[in-house]
Amino acid sequence: MTTRRHHHHHRHEDRPHRHHYEAEMLSVEEARARILGHFSQLAPADVPLLDAIGLTLATDLVASIDVPPHDNSAMDGYALRYADVAQASDSTPVQLPVNTTVAAGDAPGATVQPGTAARIMTGAPIPTGADAVVPFEDTDESERTNSPDTIGIKLAAERGENIRPAGEDIQTGEVVLPAGTELTPGAIGVAASLGLTTAPAIRRPVVAIISTGDELIEPGQPVQHGKIYNSNAYSIAALTKSFGAIPDVVGIARDTVESLVGLLQRAMQSADMIVTSAGVSKGDYDVVKDVLAQHGEIALWSVRMRPAKPLAFGTLNAPDGNKVPHLGLPGNPVSAAVAFEQFGLPAIRKMMGKPETDRPTVLATLDDPVHNHDGRRVYARVNVYQSPSGELRAASAGNQSSGAMTSMARANGLAICPHDIASIPAGAQVNVEMLGWHSDDLLAAVLSAAN
Ligand code: AMP
Ligand code: MG
Repeated sequence: MTTRRHHHHHRHEDRPHRHHYEAEMLSVEEARARILGHFSQLAPADVPLLDAIGLTLATDLVASIDVPPHDNSAMDGYALRYADVAQASDSTPVQLPVNTTVAAGDAPGATVQPGTAARIMTGAPIPTGADAVVPFEDTDESERTNSPDTIGIKLAAERGENIRPAGEDIQTGEVVLPAGTELTPGAIGVAASLGLTTAPAIRRPVVAIISTGDELIEPGQPVQHGKIYNSNAYSIAALTKSFGAIPDVVGIARDTVESLVGLLQRAMQSADMIVTSAGVSKGDYDVVKDVLAQHGEIALWSVRMRPAKPLAFGTLNAPDGNKVPHLGLPGNPVSAAVAFEQFGLPAIRKMMGKPETDRPTVLATLDDPVHNHDGRRVYARVNVYQSPSGELRAASAGNQSSGAMTSMARANGLAICPHDIASIPAGAQVNVEMLGWHSDDLLAAVLSAAN
């Protein structure tokens, strides 16, 4: 294959058999469903606990031990027999000889004989014979000067009081967390309490990211006339990370067949999904299509959405015989990010064994109108906030051009104007797909609005 620069005016001259690829028009839902059909849940792996945060538990977590493993004290105090202190009161404390002290970490084995007490620390194993713990505050310990060999108990106890029985939280053989559970910090703590250092979890997908375009230079390079910085690689990699996957930023493919083929081959080696940006608008697509047709299958779609109408999707044949899904995002920075939210996120979540979306939709009142020029579903960048009266409001996050990334940076949600509605005026209510929770205030507002 020869390397050719891409010029609109003469690009067809030496290609007599060039096809024009007609883009098929799809709704967002149709496009998403087709894409998701090419993804499945990834294989499980034993993942070190701290790398497993946010991953999906691949098999039931079954307890091999009781937690806690032995009866232990919930308080610092005195372990005793409750029957011995039934008459205890502030004015007439029951006096018990103290024969031993048990600290956290001591092996079980101490004994409390009838009519005696053991000094005990929180977490220490309950001595044989004891059936209650009376905390220091309900004894006369503080009134005694040196370590007492007798203690005055000022309060009666109930059987089992301040004792955490073995297996209170988890019992041996129990399914503690079922397969499919997200490994939250709490779940990581449970796994560690069972003595585990790894969790059987669905592994993180690797997403290879390729930018395309002769106009691109990398951040860190000096400004160059006619060039722009490759910001898409960063925003897509950042989204990839925030979705829980591993970004592999492969680099910039120039607008030549050779360059794109080279980077795709590198990407295919380890990626579960390849994401390219740019090259899917009408002027560019033939080059991309030519390359991908040699190495797999690709289709250009026109998705009934704004931003991000042009979208390519296909599969590449990896050398090991696997088919690697390829998502071709538009080049405009906001289009790329919005399309990656709509199509990349659900694909990553499917690979990770998660439900399609975790993005809540809220109903908010518009501060600014949303206009729809051409019968596509509009995703308007907005900032949702709570008004002083407690109402959820959505203000425009700024310039809605598909190149204006600042409004993406300021937005916390995408307000939706359906394809068949020409505009939604200020004051009307809209559905807003939240991009993530930025404040507890907002979450509180949504929860109270839902009540
Ligand atoms: P294209 O899809 O190639 O027509 O590109 C659409 C617009 O997105 C053009 O203005 C490109 O310069 C811009 N663009 C393409 N790739 C990137 C990128 N990686 N980072 C930032 N802007 C880009
Ligand atoms: Mg381009």
